[in-house]
Amino acid sequence: MSYIEELKEALGDKVLTEDFERFVFGADWSPRTQGEIIPPDVVICPRCTEDVVKTVKIAYEHGIPVTAGGGLTGMAGGAVPIHRGIYIDGTCMNQIIEVDVDNQTIRAQSGASLQDLVDAVELHGLWFPVLPESKWSCTLASAIACDIDSTFGMKYGKPLNMVLSIELVTGTGEVIEVGHRKTRFSATGYKLKDLIIGSEGTLGVITAATVKVEPVPEHRHVDMIIFPSMGQTVKYLDRVLKAGLVPEGAHINCRRRLKFYTHAYKEKHGHDPKIPDWAGALLAIIFAGDRDVLDFTLKKAYAIAAEMKGQIVEEREIVDNWWISKHTLEFPPFKQKWPASQTVKKFGAADPGIPMGRLEDIYEKFIETAEKYDLEILGMNAYLEHPCSIGFSLSCALFVDYRDQDEIDRYRKYFEEMSKIAVDMEGTMSTYMSDTDLKVPYFEYEHGPAARYMLEIKRLFDPKGIMNPGKKFTRDRVLGKEE
Ligand SMILES: Cc1cc2nc3c(=O)[nH]c(=O)nc-3n(C[C@H](O)[C@H](O)[C@H](O)COP(=O)(O)OP(=O)(O)OC[C@H]3O[C@@H](n4cnc5c(N)ncnc54)[C@H](O)[C@@H]3O)c2cc1C
Repeated sequence: MSYIEELKEALGDKVLTEDFERFVFGADWSPRTQGEIIPPDVVICPRCTEDVVKTVKIAYEHGIPVTAGGGLTGMAGGAVPIHRGIYIDGTCMNQIIEVDVDNQTIRAQSGASLQDLVDAVELHGLWFPVLPESKWSCTLASAIACDIDSTFGMKYGKPLNMVLSIELVTGTGEVIEVGHRKTRFSATGYKLKDLIIGSEGTLGVITAATVKVEPVPEHRHVDMIIFPSMGQTVKYLDRVLKAGLVPEGAHINCRRRLKFYTHAYKEKHGHDPKIPDWAGALLAIIFAGDRDVLDFTLKKAYAIAAEMKGQIVEEREIVDNWWISKHTLEFPPFKQKWPASQTVKKFGAADPGIPMGRLEDIYEKFIETAEKYDLEILGMNAYLEHPCSIGFSLSCALFVDYRDQDEIDRYRKYFEEMSKIAVDMEGTMSTYMSDTDLKVPYFEYEHGPAARYMLEIKRLFDPKGIMNPGKKFTRDRVLGKEE
């Protein structure tokens, strides 16, 4: 019996094989031409962990690749089944399993969206603060698999800081739970939970997880402050932290990037927001708390800004435009973003991380590299993603014409070069997209001899190299067929 027949026998109508059913799973939001769409051979729509176990056991027996995906809004092809085989549509498993108000945790199936988590605890005055712009489509599993960025990262961090336990179906079809559902930390065993975070489906399929939830702050205030340079913005944030203030979120925009978020402003007024010529960076900063604390915090934050020659953006429409575009999304989906984004030209970004003192340097390299490959620059953002400290996750973004193979090829060269530049700056190639197949050439370059240990871990979880093959390591490498 073929493996697809076995799947049909085990899972019935949860198995999809028609061309039109498979086609949509051959691409995510990363720039790629029509010819580069790679549909899987078969799609599974599981409803429970047991469905995933049955799928992986059959795949293991036959040595068939298994790629799990969520909302397919990944921007580097992480869920694209580049070796075809089986695609597991994780969005079919989206149930909330438990809300524990006393212990402030929520457990959900892995395909619940991040917004689903927020909705499930809202009536208890709680929320899950790991929220990307794509919170309605990004699944819990994908957030874990990529250790994504959040709008509120400067206070709450990333999934790494918020996930308590993960249920995983390994590459042999065994179910394991890593971490502890109700305790915040543990010093026993090895921290396998942290290993799964950022593993992008290469060690197994995530089927459920328990995360912390937090009390919803009473009030929130968003500001934008103009600084002459990115470096000055970093100094400002350092002063804010030293004063004892904790922003909920902070995002440094280069002046080009602001336009991406304020397209609706331009539509209405017929011009871009007026930003002084001396502006080198715009800091969007979010504070939250009860009225007294928030008032005191803002007073102090404004005083530090004035001392450091930062200018508060007084025109609230600019700030509100940014905030709507970034978080509340109170408009028809993505309409407010630059119209060329995702229609004619795709949003294509490199996502390196660098030490806090190198922001100006990487910005220079970003512009230089984009120009070298003749690519249209959208702009750079530095998202502050480490709780209560300065830790950058960068989005060095371009507009890429997805119909033009030459432009796509130049974009990939840019992407590779930016990865190398970040490592040379004692940084990392990726901060929220993970490795995918695009960073494989520089994997060793970043990790050195530790890459060998990672390979052995991969083989332990996935002896036949069937879990999202081609990501982090080539499949041949995992199977020992290449050096
Ligand atoms: C408009 C827009 C805004 C965005 N904003 C942000 C942002 O603010 N911050 C940010 O970090 N990113 C952002 N992104 C990028 C993207 O949303 C995130 O990277 C998100 O993680 C993708 O979620 P997804 O469910 O669509 O994942 P997919 O693209 O479907 O998958 C992503 C990865 O997760 C793995 N995966 C999925 N399900 C499983 C599973 N069950 N088990 C194991 N592995 C699995 C896949 O194999 C793949 O490697 C944005 C994207 C868009 C389109």
